[in-house]
Amino acid sequence: MYLVKCPSCKNNMKYQPRGSLDKKKKRCVYCGKSFTIHSNQKKSRIIKKL
Ligand SMILES: [Zn+2]
Repeated sequence: MYLVKCPSCKNNMKYQPRGSLDKKKKRCVYCGKSFTIHSNQKKSRIIKKL
């Protein structure tokens, strides 16, 4: 489980990836915008691993 930040509304939410973390899409539960989850920590929307 990861804590990720929406690039649009800046809200944090939990994310549980299935399989590899690379190029996963997550839909924001707050604003509905989809964004990509990167395995690269520098490009990542990941705040921290839970
Ligand atoms: Zn959002």
